[in-house]
Amino acid sequence: MNQVVTDKVVTERPVCVSLDPQDWPAFRAQSHEMLDDMLDFIEHLRQRPVWQSAPADVRARFHDALPRAAGDLAEAHQSFLNDILPYSAGNAHPGFMGWVQGGGTAVGMLADMLAAGLNANVGGRDQMPVEVERQIARWMQELFHFPEGASGIFVTGTSMANLMGLLVARTVALGREVRQNGLTSGAERLVAYTSADAHGCVAQAMDLAGFGTAALRRIAVTEAHQIDLAALQASIAADRAAGLQPFFIAGTAGTVDVGAVDDLNALADIAARESLWFHIDGAYGALGMLAPDVAPLLAGIERADSLAFDFHKWGQVPYDAGFLLVRDGARHMDAFAAPVAYLRREARGVAAGSPWPCDFGPDLSRGFRALKTWFALKVYGADRLGQVISQTCQLARYLAQQVQAAPALELMSPVMLNIVCFRYRCAGDSDAFNRELVADLHESGIAVPSTTTVKGSLVIRVAIVNHRTAAQDIDALLAAIHKFGAARSA
Ligand SMILES: *Cc1c(COP(=O)(O)O)cnc(C)c1O
Repeated sequence: MNQVVTDKVVTERPVCVSLDPQDWPAFRAQSHEMLDDMLDFIEHLRQRPVWQSAPADVRARFHDALPRAAGDLAEAHQSFLNDILPYSAGNAHPGFMGWVQGGGTAVGMLADMLAAGLNANVGGRDQMPVEVERQIARWMQELFHFPEGASGIFVTGTSMANLMGLLVARTVALGREVRQNGLTSGAERLVAYTSADAHGCVAQAMDLAGFGTAALRRIAVTEAHQIDLAALQASIAADRAAGLQPFFIAGTAGTVDVGAVDDLNALADIAARESLWFHIDGAYGALGMLAPDVAPLLAGIERADSLAFDFHKWGQVPYDAGFLLVRDGARHMDAFAAPVAYLRREARGVAAGSPWPCDFGPDLSRGFRALKTWFALKVYGADRLGQVISQTCQLARYLAQQVQAAPALELMSPVMLNIVCFRYRCAGDSDAFNRELVADLHESGIAVPSTTTVKGSLVIRVAIVNHRTAAQDIDALLAAIHKFGAARSA
């Protein structure tokens, strides 16, 4: 039909307003320049400051009104180069050691470009991008020694994966009816357990899932920052005696503060004995399975009912690439799958290939996160990614030795993996002194550690995650700490 017929009016045959380039050769030349600019950026990262604050005039340009008219690609790119690129938080830089952030790779950048070009919607349907995601799920099943029938799905990050693991556990504890009826009477008796050092998103998951954070027991940790098993058992017993129903334990493989790994085998034993769902937050630590010297610390990870982790931290995949692995794929699907007419599955055609990724989580439209992860594993190989993980732990031990050898510095927690917590000794208010010292470091552009609180004291926290970080970056960090510390002490 060439004409659109309405009540009275017969309109003209519409012309296509495509967004494709009018001048492909010019567009191609500009594309190549943009690619070269980003390769230059990555190749010469070390010559830049790790971080610098964007000046007021740069920020002001981002308050312009909505552009109505077409602009020029080269100009937009120039704005990116001038006003955006120099003012990111700097986690790609080898001197970035704050929080727990991955550095990304040039290969990941290219893979993301391919994924964006294809623009696959990986919510489902019969298409190879879904098969790529399924292959990663099988690879993770292999890496973590999960059984056949396990399911895996990409999500934004571990915050989401932890919430989804909890929702699967909820559906198992309360039955599928909970999805229709909500948390009705009886649900208020459900209680969950994690350690006091667990990431805040575990409590947030309890909140978002409707249980409330008060239903989460935050169990004390030992000297080694692992969940105190005796305290956990006492808490479970006390809750049962009070008529409550324990249903969920979240262990941590790599705590965000100091990199501690809970005794996962002991937690699996307790969970089995008490019939609790055993979830592991392995956000950054789980991929330690790739490193022969780290993997033994994770013994018991293979016994989790659900495991949340990120490829975008120790896996160096560009943001975002979180993952949830569930031992029993049928239970996983029970928590999320919902048949609706417009997503009907067929035996043939594009609508084939059920179950779809959208049956395993709350997202329907989903990007092709699997591709950048697939490229990382294909191009670097699991062993090389494991070497990077080992290297970050070696650098952490190297830093800890330097800290212990320096009279001005005090090591504040044992170094279990890749995180070192310490402080600069000073007269007076140590918390304020070290907080300012960290801000001095940030503003110097030399290194970006972050801070946390260990045993009530504010500490400088160095988490070495980036594959680019080398001994010279640790030396530069220490030299700057000594320089700024001495200046502040004077
Ligand atoms: C980073 C981290 C999280 C949160 O993961 P996101 O990917 O940022 O959502 C949760 N737990 C631990 C232990 C982490 O290190």
